[in-house]
Amino acid sequence: MEVTAEDLGKRSFCEAVMRARLPKAVFKELKKTIDYGAPLDAAIADSVAIAMREWAKELGATHYTHWFHPLTNLTAEKHDSFMDPVGDGTFITEFTGKELIKAEPDGSSFPSGGIRETCAARGYTVWDCTSPAFVKEIPDGCKVLCIPTIFISYTGESLDHKTPLLRSMDAVNKQALRILKLFGKTPAKVTASVGPEQEYFLIDKDKFNQRLDLKLTGRTLFGAPAPKGQELDDQYFGVIKDKVSHFMRELNKDLWEYGIPAKTQHNEVAPSQHEIAPIYGTTNVATDQNQLLMETLKKVAERNGFACLLHEKPFAGVNGSGKHNNWSISTSDGENLIDPGKEPEKNLQFQVFLAAILESVDNHAALLRLSASSAGNDHRLGANEAPPAIISAYLGDQLADVVDQIIANGEATSSLKGKVYKSGCSVIPEFKMDATDRNRTSPFAFTGNKFEFRMVGSTQCIAQPMMTLNTIVADTLCNFADVLEKADDFEAAAKKLVADKLREHQRIIFNGNGYSEEWVKEAERRGLPNIKCMVDAVDYLATPENIEMFEKHGVMSKRELVARGVVMYDNYAKQINIEAKTMIEMSTKQIIPAVMKYEGTLAASVKDLKELGISADTQMEILSTIDTKLAELKKATAELEDIVAKAAEKEDDPKAWAKYYHDVVFAFFDTVRKPADELEKIVDAKAWPFPTYEELLFEQ
Ligand code: ADP
Ligand code: MG
Repeated sequence: MEVTAEDLGKRSFCEAVMRARLPKAVFKELKKTIDYGAPLDAAIADSVAIAMREWAKELGATHYTHWFHPLTNLTAEKHDSFMDPVGDGTFITEFTGKELIKAEPDGSSFPSGGIRETCAARGYTVWDCTSPAFVKEIPDGCKVLCIPTIFISYTGESLDHKTPLLRSMDAVNKQALRILKLFGKTPAKVTASVGPEQEYFLIDKDKFNQRLDLKLTGRTLFGAPAPKGQELDDQYFGVIKDKVSHFMRELNKDLWEYGIPAKTQHNEVAPSQHEIAPIYGTTNVATDQNQLLMETLKKVAERNGFACLLHEKPFAGVNGSGKHNNWSISTSDGENLIDPGKEPEKNLQFQVFLAAILESVDNHAALLRLSASSAGNDHRLGANEAPPAIISAYLGDQLADVVDQIIANGEATSSLKGKVYKSGCSVIPEFKMDATDRNRTSPFAFTGNKFEFRMVGSTQCIAQPMMTLNTIVADTLCNFADVLEKADDFEAAAKKLVADKLREHQRIIFNGNGYSEEWVKEAERRGLPNIKCMVDAVDYLATPENIEMFEKHGVMSKRELVARGVVMYDNYAKQINIEAKTMIEMSTKQIIPAVMKYEGTLAASVKDLKELGISADTQMEILSTIDTKLAELKKATAELEDIVAKAAEKEDDPKAWAKYYHDVVFAFFDTVRKPADELEKIVDAKAWPFPTYEELLFEQ
C-alpha cells in the first residue's frame, strides 16, 4: 500500500478543490463565510452543489448524506442516492443547492431530552460550509458524499453538538475582537482551535468477539489482573509491533485521504494502548475530524484483525484512555493570543487573555468538569486514576513567576529564561531548554502557547468541552471588555484588572502533583469543587447563572440546557443498566456454568482418588473454596437482578433514576465482580469461558 502525494486530502472537498472547481465569484463568497464568518449567501448553493456532486461522482459516490452529531457522541447519516427519475423509466443524477443546504430527516429517535415528543418528528439538518464535505469510502461498499450539518428541531432548538459549538465560536470571536480593538488591533476574526490527542486500545478481534462485556459495553466487567501490568513502563513510547504498525499505516492513509492531518502516533502507557494526534484545527473542523477519526480507527482495526476500544476504562488496573484537548485562540492575522512571547512580563495583551482564562476556569470549574463527564469517564475522574475531578490550572515556572510578581507588585518586571543545556558529552550539541517544565497531572495545563484540557473522555464528542471552554472564556472577555472600554487610561486599567483578577483567582493555579492525596486536601481548603461523579456534575448545567451566561452569548437557551441535562441522566442510567444486564448474563450463562462444570471434574477426581485409598484433602480444599465463591457469585448475581428490577420505579424522574443507577446499581458491581475474579484465579485456565486479561492485553 503506497501513500502518494495525490492521496492527501483526496476525499475532502477542501479549499484547494473548491478553488479549482467553483466559479471564482462563488468561491470568494464561500471563503468569506469560512474565513470571516460572514453569513452564507444561499444563492451560491446551487453552484456549489453541482461542483460537489461532480467531484463526488468522480470519486465513485452514488449517494450523499447530511452528516451530523446527535447527542449520542456518535455521528448520524441517512443516505440518498443522486438518482432522480425522469418519468420515462430512466434516471438523471440530481443534487441541487436546496438539497445541499437543508434536509428534513425524520430522526425522531435521537435523544432530545424532552424537547421533542416522539410523535413530533420533524427536524432539520442544515449545511455547515466551514467544515469540508468528504466522500466516505467503504472498501467494496458504498461511497457516500458526507455533508457536515447542524441538526435542529422543528421548534428551533439544537439537537446536536455542532450548533452550540458554532455559536460558542461566534461568541469567543466577538468578545476577543472587543479586547483586541482596545489594543489597537482589528483582525477580521478570532478562532478557537483544538488539537485532540486520542488514546485507544487495540486488541485481537477474535478474543474481543468472545467477550460479551466488550461487545455490549465497550469495557470488561469481569477479569482478574494479569501477573504483569504496566509497572515496567515498557510499553510507553515502546517499539511498535509490526501488526500495529501495519494498522497505523492504513489508518494514516485513510485519514490523510479525508484531509485529517494525522501527525503523531505512539504506544501509550497500558499494554495494547496507543495514541494518535492530528495537527490542530478550528474547534468545529477538529470536532468533525475527531468523530471521523474514531470511526476510521474502528474500521481499520476490523480490517486488520483488531478491535479498537475507545472506552475510557476498558480494563481495571491499567490506565484508561482520554482525549487531551489542546486549545488556543488565534486571529485571522496569525497571532496566537495564548502565546506569551519572549517577554511575558511585558506582554499586557497576553496577560489580559491569561487572566480571563484563569477567571473562566475558576468561576466555571464545575461546568468544565461536567463537559468532560460520562459514565465511562467516571472511572477516570475522581476514581483512582488521573486526572482528578478537581479542576486546577498549571502554568509552569515561567508564567507562575510572572503571575506571582503581578500579584505581589501589580506588575511583572522579569521572567525566567530557559537555560542552555550542556550534556557533558562532546558529541552532543548544546541547546536552549524551555523556560518551563511540563505537567502531566494537571487537568488544565499551559503548554507553551496553548492550554491542554486533559480531562476529556476518549469516547466523547469533543464539541461539548470545546463549546463550554469557548463560552466561559467569551463571557469573561465580555466582562473584561465592559470594564476596559470605559477606562480613561486603558493601559493602567488593563494592568489593574489583570492584577485584581489574578489575585482573585490564584486558588485555581496549582503547579504541583495533581494526583497526590495532599492536593485533594489542599484543593478542599481552597474551596475548589471536587465533583466525584457525572450524575452530581449534571446539576451545574442549568443553574440560573449558567442559563444566564449561555443565553447572554446566544450559545444555548434554558430549554436546550435543561434538555441536555436530561439526555445526560438518561444516557447514564441506560448505560449502567446495559452493564448490569451484561454482568448478570455473563455470570449466569457463562461463569457459573463453567465453574460448575469444573467442580464436577474436580469432584470426580476426588471420588477416584478416594477409591484408590488416597485422602484427596488438597482437592477437597480447592473444591470447597470454589464452591464457597460460586455460592457468593450466585447470591450477588441474584441480588443485582433485584436491584436492577427496582430501578423502574424511578424512571419518571431522570435525576433520581440516574442517581439510583450510580449509587445503588453501579455501586454493587464490585460485589458481583469480586467472587468471579477470584474464581478466575483458581479455576483451570482451559475451563474459563472467555479470554482473560492476559490474553486480551498481551496477545495483541
Ligand atoms: P503531547 O506531547 O502533549 O502528547 P502531541 O504532539 O501528542 O503532544 O499533541 C499535541 C497536540 O496539540 C497536537 O494535536 C497539536 O496539533 C496541538 N497543538 C499544537 N499547537 C497548538 C495550538 N497553538 N493550538 C491548539 N492546538 C495545538
Ligand atoms: Mg501526546
